[in-house]
Amino acid sequence: MTRTVHIIGAGMAGLACAVRLARRGVPTVVHEATDQAGGRCRSYHDAVTGMRIDNGTHILLSGNTAALGFLADIGASDLVTGAPAPRYPFVDLATGERWTLDLGSGRLSPWMFDPRRRALGTRAVDYLPLIRMLWPSPGRTLGEIMSCSGPAYERVVRPFLLAALNIDPKEGSSDLARAVVVETIAAGGQACRPYLAPEGLSAAFVEPALAVLRGQGAAVMFSHQLRKLVLGDGRVRGLDFGDSIVALGPDDAVVVAVSAHAAGAIVPGLQVPGEYRAIINAHFRLSPEGIAPMIGVVNGVAEWVFSFGDRISVTISDAGRLLELSRDQIAQMIWQDVQRVTGISAALPAWQLVRERRATFAATPAQNARRPGAATEWTNLVLAGDFTATGLPATIEGAVRSGYRAADLVLQGLSRH
Ligand SMILES: Cc1cc2nc3c(=O)[nH]c(=O)nc-3n(C[C@H](O)[C@H](O)[C@H](O)COP(=O)(O)OP(=O)(O)OC[C@H]3O[C@@H](n4cnc5c(N)ncnc54)[C@H](O)[C@@H]3O)c2cc1C
Repeated sequence: MTRTVHIIGAGMAGLACAVRLARRGVPTVVHEATDQAGGRCRSYHDAVTGMRIDNGTHILLSGNTAALGFLADIGASDLVTGAPAPRYPFVDLATGERWTLDLGSGRLSPWMFDPRRRALGTRAVDYLPLIRMLWPSPGRTLGEIMSCSGPAYERVVRPFLLAALNIDPKEGSSDLARAVVVETIAAGGQACRPYLAPEGLSAAFVEPALAVLRGQGAAVMFSHQLRKLVLGDGRVRGLDFGDSIVALGPDDAVVVAVSAHAAGAIVPGLQVPGEYRAIINAHFRLSPEGIAPMIGVVNGVAEWVFSFGDRISVTISDAGRLLELSRDQIAQMIWQDVQRVTGISAALPAWQLVRERRATFAATPAQNARRPGAATEWTNLVLAGDFTATGLPATIEGAVRSGYRAADLVLQGLSRH
């Protein structure tokens, strides 16, 4: 008997799940609401700048083993570029000071004790409170367990955790901060080399995954939005796509791998995080020369400035405060920061701004507590997605792990039949 697994959503979680199942020979069908796979991790052609751009520059760190493993599995390792060393150039726009944080190689690297490698204006003793972050403090904010001020916080902890959690770290979950720190900074410089996708997110993360799925005979149906689960007798009996209903056989399974918001609408009674944080990305068309691939910015509107072959891209996390402003105002403000960071004096070039209002769930203790597990009360329904209880903030790493976990649950279920 054919046991088909239907995966709802072709974001990172759905694709990771589908690839794992298809590779095991399980008949797999992916249903994606939009006309494109990738979800919040995608590229598109932008008519204004004439460039193919990403909805937002995504960074992986070398400690993101599931995400890098996924890229290896789909044959896309060459489509991300890892920095040879965990060296992060920074500039403080309030003071004009510049430094390079050099986390070195190997485990337990002593960068904090070396003034040439730690953040300018910090002392080794300033980093001691970071150790506090490594003790579990369930359900607390970072601000409740450690001092969130001082140069080491402002120049090291805040920039990294703001990017990883997409929330002002003070109000962020100390559990999620700890998970990130344990898997990266506390694991040593070898886990902290940044990876970027210079050819774009879709080229690296999405198109190779779709090629694997095609090669394995899996189907991917675009513009195929699930409207409703048809439930009965403790299981999913059908999938209602509005214009058609797919009836499920007794051994078929469903993985709902959509965003928190969409999952809450599809799965009856499901508790999901209901607060979100925005991310703004700006892309400026020009050919930067001699500019580091990635520069951290302190005391600016811009937070990270990325230099690609045909553009400069800028990321701003937890960007809700800017959403009231006009697109032109935001672009001007960011471009002024770019000029100061890079020394480029040119007038504002062709630009595009991508405002993702629901970029991630709000990584507070309260929202973190609302994340559901993968298993559900319906025997053949499993959840995946960055909002599920992965123990990590909403990241590609969390999404891929959730997809793999969902696939493993489905495989266990199939092996019991
Ligand atoms: C601007 C931005 C920058 C980011 N930067 C980073 C970064 O630097 N590093 C990092 O690791 N992470 C980053 N993230 C987070 C990362 O993109 C997400 O955690 C990850 O992509 C989530 O994947 P997902 O599969 O869980 O969800 P999604 O990407 O939301 O995928 C869900 C999919 O389901 C589809 N769908 C929804 N409803 C239905 C339905 N009813 N029927 C069928 N399909 C449906 C959607 O269209 C979508 O394709 C960033 C996110 C954003 C927005």
